[in-house]
Amino acid sequence: MEKEEVRIGVYVCKCGSNIAGLLDVEALAEYASTLPNVVFAPWNLYTCSDVGLDEIKKGIKEQNLNRVVVASCSPRTHEPLFRSVCGEAGLNPYLFEMVNIRDQCSWVHVGHEEDAMVKARDLIRMGVAKAALLKPQEIIVSEVEVKALVIGSGIAGLTAATTLANRGFPVILLEKEKELGGMLRSLYKLAPMDADASEVINEKIKEAEDNPNIEIYTGATIDKVEGFIGKFNVTFSANGTSKDVRLGVVIIATGAGNLVPEGLYQYDGEKVITQWELEGKLKSGKIDANNVVIIQCVGARSPERQYCSRICCAIGIKNAILIKEMNPEARVHILYRDLMMYGVENEDQLRKAKELGVRFVKYDPERPPVVEENKVTVFHHLMGKELEIPQEMVVLSTPLVGTEDGVKVGNLFRAGLDQNNFFLEAHVKLKPLDCATDGIFICGSAHYPKNVRESILQALGAASRASIPLSQGEVKIEPIVTTLVNKDACRGCGLCVALCPYNALEIKETDEGRKVNIITVACKGCGVCAATCFRHALGINSFTDEQIQAQIHGFLAA
Ligand code: SF4
Ligand code: SF4
Repeated sequence: MEKEEVRIGVYVCKCGSNIAGLLDVEALAEYASTLPNVVFAPWNLYTCSDVGLDEIKKGIKEQNLNRVVVASCSPRTHEPLFRSVCGEAGLNPYLFEMVNIRDQCSWVHVGHEEDAMVKARDLIRMGVAKAALLKPQEIIVSEVEVKALVIGSGIAGLTAATTLANRGFPVILLEKEKELGGMLRSLYKLAPMDADASEVINEKIKEAEDNPNIEIYTGATIDKVEGFIGKFNVTFSANGTSKDVRLGVVIIATGAGNLVPEGLYQYDGEKVITQWELEGKLKSGKIDANNVVIIQCVGARSPERQYCSRICCAIGIKNAILIKEMNPEARVHILYRDLMMYGVENEDQLRKAKELGVRFVKYDPERPPVVEENKVTVFHHLMGKELEIPQEMVVLSTPLVGTEDGVKVGNLFRAGLDQNNFFLEAHVKLKPLDCATDGIFICGSAHYPKNVRESILQALGAASRASIPLSQGEVKIEPIVTTLVNKDACRGCGLCVALCPYNALEIKETDEGRKVNIITVACKGCGVCAATCFRHALGINSFTDEQIQAQIHGFLAA
């Protein structure tokens, strides 16, 4: 068969002044036109604008381009757009290559115009060399089992489960405790509406229990997880029996725990208590202290736990208001480092607390308050002197913390956790509700400390994300995955299987002996296996050894 002539179009983008502010984009387009196989090389003000995209389509048709390179910004944000435009013009979307001359060049080499031009030329030359070897790829389609698993029945889990069920999807809801409801069962009032926490959660529990699409299991533990998006196999035990279920998607809403401040500020759970314990007292109406001191940031923003738990300031102030409302004569002091009262409603709560006479004292973490019998001594950061505040009850605002159960669930589903054992999203801006493993979503305080409203909003978002594969009945997967490029070379050693972070490989006995088998739907194309295989049996589509070698040769060809 006659070999197809490679005809590459290179579109160099000014990105307004983002790229053109440093690089001579017109000279780069001129340079690109001199590279092997390049037949067309215009520049654009914004390649991602309608005008720029039309120019790509026009080039494919009028110049008979069979490869397209765009030298512009980040593939993370713009590659899908450029690929789909190639597809609309009749070119296989995987005959497209992107070169990042903004984030990797103009933005990071300000003040070094000449060197930046050299690097931009290198990057374009490398992209063109690789583009010449690109092969068409087809999107991978896999069926989805139309059933969801929601893990955790706090406000986030219940919201996610009922949202999916109300859309007609069958849901399995697992709760490790004997009762549904999570943390809200133990809280008193919710700010800023003063809503009764028990009423809010009981209403949601009833909604879930009454929904025929939701199967609820309490006292449940997950024993085994296999599979991938669309076809998860989960084994769990509940009430002494074990059950295997097949599911399409999973929502993790395992919540968070409360830090028990052992060894901090004379904590004893009686006279020195946590906000959590105070909620119980408020609920039973048993507050007999007239002098209450609340200390913020206990065990948070410290060397052991460097993060801010976000919601404790609002909780501390909400509870100070409740104490003042129950007993206007009470003297309530809040000792704080910084007040995180974000949003208008929280600001209103702060104002209300001040109007009710709650006193605020800023302390320095280098000179933290000292709790003694009947008093708290604190160095007033602004007045520059020690204050002695009488106390009959000290309340410590402690952070929410990641839990052991969350870690177990994270490990079973290979969903990443951060250093504080909160679940990590796949990308803070681009995929804030997804885990790195496809088909697994997160919501509520399992992700990071959140108030009730934020947990509900995130649960609605996670349910929306999860309902996409459920409603489509199939998932479309990027074909940039690993392939067995040389079956004979594979010795079935299993090294790649052990290292794949997504469980996308397995060893199978075949007529030709032990060979690796690829579960393409689970593969994320990370390249670990291809880089590991000492037999060069595996390769990643669109990142083959030949394509990477061409890029290296392209670089050296300057
Ligand atoms: Fe071993 Fe390579 Fe085969 Fe994987 S692909 S089993 S690493 S020989
Ligand atoms: Fe696993 Fe990454 Fe290889 Fe895919 S490319 S099989 S995700 S190691």
